[in-house]
Amino acid sequence: MAVFCNRCGTGLPPSARFCSNCGAVVTVAAAVPGRPLIRPHVGRQIAGVCLGLAQANGWDITVVRILTVVGFFLTSGIVGVAYVAAWIGIPEDPVPLPGAYPPSI
Ligand SMILES: [Zn+2]
Repeated sequence: MAVFCNRCGTGLPPSARFCSNCGAVVTVAAAVPGRPLIRPHVGRQIAGVCLGLAQANGWDITVVRILTVVGFFLTSGIVGVAYVAAWIGIPEDPVPLPGAYPPSI
């Protein structure tokens, strides 16, 4: 598993601490949880908001979806408004990577 320079994108060996191309400090991507808050393509049900939140925080996607549905009715739709806001505010996964995010059903 290689790491990539955050500045220039050069592929580096996993043990690298500095980029051999531009000299930038290499920060190793954090493991799960710690994924960026995005709306993944794979495994989404509606807009990927629940899935993105679950993956970014290490939550169980099933629990997130149940709480979203329950919360929608308990809050008279406020959760629905928040969902739409998150739909707009959370960037969509720019690159569909089949297999990168296996649906956790
Ligand atoms: Zn670099």
